[in-house]
Parts: sequence; structure tokens; C-alpha cells
Amino acid sequence: MKKEIVFRIDDIGASTKHFNQYGKKIFRFLGVPYFYFPIANIGFFKRVWPFRGWAKYNEVSKEEWSDFLDIFEYYNITPIISVTACWVEHDGTYVEFPDKFPKQAQFLKDAFLKGKITIANHGLTHCVVGKHTPRFWSSNKTFHREFWHWLPQQMHDEHIQRSQNILEDFFEKSIHIFVPPGNVWSRKTYNALKNTNIKKIISKNYMIDSNESMDGIEFIDDTKGFFNFHDRELKLYGREWLIQKIKEKI
Ligand SMILES: [Zn+2]
Repeated sequence: MKKEIVFRIDDIGASTKHFNQYGKKIFRFLGVPYFYFPIANIGFFKRVWPFRGWAKYNEVSKEEWSDFLDIFEYYNITPIISVTACWVEHDGTYVEFPDKFPKQAQFLKDAFLKGKITIANHGLTHCVVGKHTPRFWSSNKTFHREFWHWLPQQMHDEHIQRSQNILEDFFEKSIHIFVPPGNVWSRKTYNALKNTNIKKIISKNYMIDSNESMDGIEFIDDTKGFFNFHDRELKLYGREWLIQKIKEKI
């Protein structure tokens, strides 16, 4: 029998879907570059097809969630849904997930409490606030990672503590899984996680700045046994894509 694959969907509630704008410079066919567009990160090119690399797309609606969760249930899958606790507005204002997307939040809460999904912590902001808005001349991808080793310990502490508080207060259930945005986390993040209910860190990489072992928190390498994607694929390709992927993976 095939080992069971874990399905994980990231970036729920994260404003990265609006502000992480970068362009695609190299176009490939079967892995071979066939076209190079050096100015893809300048001005509006990064927002238009075919030069658009990531943003911008909208949050999955409650109705869409209902449809997607029915599909997961039909195939007996309990997906991990990684929620970013605050949406960061253009001016840097934080809006907590249940306030920004009340319908989706309530729907996901019911599903979590019924055991149909698992909610994971995907950071407080997903970004370095203040550096998150699109630039005219360049990509801002680096700043759409939250837990860089060069940020102060205090920031790691605040972001972990506050995100755990927001998610646990709203969902009324402890959150055990942390999924670092963009697979970036460090020993400072681990220090911050020590005093929380987090038991597992699921990521492609270990700490960016250390190989020290962890006490009480397990690292799970998601390069094997996982199918990870973002709400972006759900939004862009919809239910047919999801069904096709599930059939391929299970
Ligand atoms: Zn993410």
C-alpha cells in the first residue's frame, strides 16, 4: 500500500497574495530557457500575464471552501490548512484573520472543531511589515518571508506569541503545527516557539542558521510524504485541478 500523503494548503488570510509582486524573467519549455525578459520586475510588468510571478489573487470565499472541503471529505482526506493570523494592509495596519474574513474564518472553525481539517500557524504577517508593498524597480519576494535570522529575537517572540494567541482564541482549540512562511525560520524562531503549544514544525528546510537539535518540538521534512500548495492554485485552477491532484497523489 502507498504511504498516505498529507495535503497542506498555505497562505490562508495572508496579504502576501496581494503584495508579493515579482516578475518572471526566464521562460522555459521542458526545462530549457527559450525567452528572457530582463525587465519583468519593473513597473507593471510584474502584475500582468505572462510576466506575473505570484500576486495578485483574492482570498478563497466561504462558498469555495465549502466545495473544496466536500471534495477532501469525499476522498477521506483531512488537509492541513495553514493560516496567517493577520492580514497586513498597504499602510502596515494589521487585521486579524477573523475580522478580515469573518465568513471564511467561521466556516473553517466549524470544520476544524469537527475534525475535518487541521489548522496550522503560518505566521503573524507572512512578511516583514513596512517592506511588504510592491516596488517599482524590483521584486519584494525576500520581504514576504517573516522569520529571518537577521530580525531581532523580540520580533520572533512577538510574532509567534501573538499569532498563537489570535488563532487559539478564535478557533478555541490549541494549535500544534507551525509552518514557517517560505520555509524560512531560525534558532530565534525555535526559541520563540518553546513556550507555546507548537509540537511540530513542518517545512522544507531546517533552521537557516543552525543544526542544533530541538527539545519538545519535532521537525518534519515536508519534501517527502506531502503535497503542499497554496490557496493560489485553488483560486486559479479550481475544483477540477484539486480532484485531479488528489487522484494522482492517493
Ligand atoms: Zn506562505
